[in-house]
Amino acid sequence: MNTDIKPIISLENVTFSYNHHPAIQEVNLSIYPGQFIGIIGPNGSGKTTILKLISGILTPQKGEIKVFEQDVRKISRKKMAKIISVVPQESYISYNYKVKEIVFMGRIPFINQWQGETLLDYQISQDAMEKTDSLHHAEKGIHQISGGEMQRVYIARALAQSPKILMLDEFSSHLDLSYKYEIIKILRESLKEEVKCIISVFHDLNLASYCSDKLILLNQGGIEKIGTPHEVINEYYLKKVYHTRPNIIQHPELSIPQVIM
Ligand code: ADP
Ligand code: MG
Repeated sequence: MNTDIKPIISLENVTFSYNHHPAIQEVNLSIYPGQFIGIIGPNGSGKTTILKLISGILTPQKGEIKVFEQDVRKISRKKMAKIISVVPQESYISYNYKVKEIVFMGRIPFINQWQGETLLDYQISQDAMEKTDSLHHAEKGIHQISGGEMQRVYIARALAQSPKILMLDEFSSHLDLSYKYEIIKILRESLKEEVKCIISVFHDLNLASYCSDKLILLNQGGIEKIGTPHEVINEYYLKKVYHTRPNIIQHPELSIPQVIM
């Protein structure tokens, strides 16, 4: 690693508890630009909590988190919304907003109080809906579309936010195969544009292996291993963390590990 390149996200001795129940313990982590990072680990290992800590939704009791070398506690919500966008694991919106309104919410941090929204804001929202194949649902209410369609709308909203860091929490659980490929392609493309890094929590180890340059394996709130899919998805670590003996094979076309039943 070139030592001139600075991490865009760093966590130093980060510890976080929910009402005295530790969720993240003594985590040290540096994330560099240009990477697709996958976070994996069993249920309750702290994956969602890490995303919430990085985006400033939660504040650690101990340690320090920096984004672009700035302490997250000192970044205002509005400024943070221009840096990080998040596709949440589950998002229930009680009001039946139209799809186009939800995607447009991604532009709110950029709207100048005096000038109001501009044509560019609408154009960016439109592009995000087009990319995620959500445009034909634009006039529908969010309660009138399927789980997979909804996931694409939340991805569209996150893209409309023109983030430097894009974070996703199990974004693909309801997507069918063709949309999985399509969305991954869009995410990868965004890394060549203004998005500096993508951090995604994965439930599906095979998808994590397929998407990620680097994997972070969490175990009971701590980092068990960071490395390439090969370095992380192997018998030793999966047995240690998931307490089961996995069958690991090589992908027939790509040089990545895949886990089969
Ligand atoms: P993961 O995303 O890996 O499944 P989480 O980060 O959601 O795990 O949770 C880590 C731990 O913190 C779990 O033990 C979970 O039960 C607990 N936890 C998560 N959210 C809350 C909350 N809002 N209040 C109390 N405990 C929580
Ligand atoms: Mg989670």
